[in-house]
Amino acid sequence: MIIVGVESTAHTFGVGIVTDKGKILANVKDSYSSKDVGMIPHEIAEHHEKVAEQLLKKAFKSAKVEWEDIDLLAYSAGPGLDPVLWKGYNIVKGWAEKHHQKIVGVNHCCAHLSIGKLWNKLKDPVYLYVSGVNTQIIVQEQKKKGEGKYHVLGETLDIGLGNMLDKFGRIVGLGFPAGPKIEEVAKKGKYVELPYIVKGMDVSFSGLLTKAQQLVERKQAMKEDLCFSLQETAFAMCAEVAERALAHSGKKELLLVGGVGANKRFCEMLDLMCKERGAKFYKVPMELAGDQGAMIAWEGFLRKDSYGDMKVNCQWRADEV
Ligand code: AMP
Ligand code: MG
Repeated sequence: MIIVGVESTAHTFGVGIVTDKGKILANVKDSYSSKDVGMIPHEIAEHHEKVAEQLLKKAFKSAKVEWEDIDLLAYSAGPGLDPVLWKGYNIVKGWAEKHHQKIVGVNHCCAHLSIGKLWNKLKDPVYLYVSGVNTQIIVQEQKKKGEGKYHVLGETLDIGLGNMLDKFGRIVGLGFPAGPKIEEVAKKGKYVELPYIVKGMDVSFSGLLTKAQQLVERKQAMKEDLCFSLQETAFAMCAEVAERALAHSGKKELLLVGGVGANKRFCEMLDLMCKERGAKFYKVPMELAGDQGAMIAWEGFLRKDSYGDMKVNCQWRADEV
């Protein structure tokens, strides 16, 4: 069985092709980016419309497949930006009608978790999911057959970790997305104290952002030091709840997924925490950490018997799947 997956929840439009054995045959994407204004939903939708056909062609070419080889079309049904989700859905729906394909809507968050688990050949990890919008610590119920329900043990009480970094990046003129640039600039920084907010299993980033913004506006701290300290503080907060999740669940593996998972310093901190408590840390390679189509295709394969054409659901949580 060969599955095409289409990602369209935020600034990335991606097309991935995988087999039912989890082999990735193609995974191509194109991301909308803007200098300082962040994400404008209708502009992103236009971007996706513009690149969709050529990305599909590129994916088919690199996977060496044609429409007649395809068994299923999966698309990201949510969560995400509503106009962007609808654009992706309509593009996929159009392809499906033209080429007589069955479609399945999948949860974007679950897709991040599943591709990470597949790639690392894991059975039952604790997931730390850190993307633009999401920051969640998740475990999955174990079933003999099929996919068990996900439970969110802890999450951000306000903004996602990636959004926090992106917002700060905009304040200091680093462009969007700012995560990778903050990582670079942080290498030249030293520590300044920022609010560290963990409440039980949950974290909160907005006070941290506000404080950093004030320090910039009052010229009381350097950009380099703030980039470094934002990373150190926010990553340590996530590491703390991840450690608590490992302790309470008794699980021995931690899997980091989502775009912020590309950050080397974050991985280093989580790896150290895991080593100190006899657990093992896993991440996904760069090309699978951020949003892409392969994860949507694989999640589509896993959920093909439970879901179908469900249009879109911009607030769809992983624990509602
Ligand atoms: P996603 O929503 O999963 O595509 O992840 C996108 C988010 O990941 C954005 O907020 C980026 O700023 C962030 N990001 C990407 N690379 C890095 C990095 N190296 N360090 C920190 N954040 C990153
Ligand atoms: Mg994502």
